[in-house]
Amino acid sequence: MQADSFPATVANPKRIAFYGGTFDPVHCGHIAVAKHLLDLFSLEQFVFLPAFHAPHKPDRKPTSGYHRFAMLSLATQGEPRMSVSTLELEHGQKRYTIDTLPELIEQTSNADIFFVMGADSWIDITTWRDWEKVLLMTNHVVVTRPGYEIVFDHVTDAVRERVVDLRDGHGSDVRSGGPKIYVTDAVKLDVSATEIREDVSEDNRLDREDDVPQEVAKYIEKYELYK
Ligand code: ATP
Repeated sequence: MQADSFPATVANPKRIAFYGGTFDPVHCGHIAVAKHLLDLFSLEQFVFLPAFHAPHKPDRKPTSGYHRFAMLSLATQGEPRMSVSTLELEHGQKRYTIDTLPELIEQTSNADIFFVMGADSWIDITTWRDWEKVLLMTNHVVVTRPGYEIVFDHVTDAVRERVVDLRDGHGSDVRSGGPKIYVTDAVKLDVSATEIREDVSEDNRLDREDDVPQEVAKYIEKYELYK
């Protein structure tokens, strides 16, 4: 546990993070986020929640959910506190976070939930269905990402006043008094799934092998994904 991590309290015995996304493919940026947040927030579980089809990314049809799930499973296999949920994939259609969150809250009744997103998702947050409700329903964690600035002028006062900025080592406690939006710079990795897919499709192979976990790289090659 890091010195500045947040110890769980008796009042909040269990903390679980959910990380929604397309994960097409899962990459080292995603895994680094999971590792750092497990420590920073003293989480019991970090759950990847692959979307059937991200509603806010309508242009591109993602790779089959079976492949994306398999890659996530390979990437998290050696990490006991990381797991992959089939919840959204099983719905078999586009799903909005406003519909998924109440289900997660119900399924994890005694836990504190932290919903995780990168800085690019935060910039787009006002395009999400019922975005203000989503943000006020549970804790959120916004993680910095190179090339994306985190600002707060696109959200309402009600949301802004819940922001706890942990960048540059600020803050040392999970705050009481309702759900919060934590902003952290625990990870600054310039990796993106789009670049990985383009890389493979242009050169027929993965050039920057360090961008994805080794087992995922092997899987992409074996099943000839993104060619
Ligand atoms: P794409 O390039 O296809 O948009 P992506 O790399 O952003 O993909 P997603 O599956 O869309 O991957 O991301 C899931 C979540 O992870 C999103 O909230 C996104 O903001 C976040 N994320 C992705 N890459 C990083 C990164 N390098 N650092 C921090 N957050 C990230």
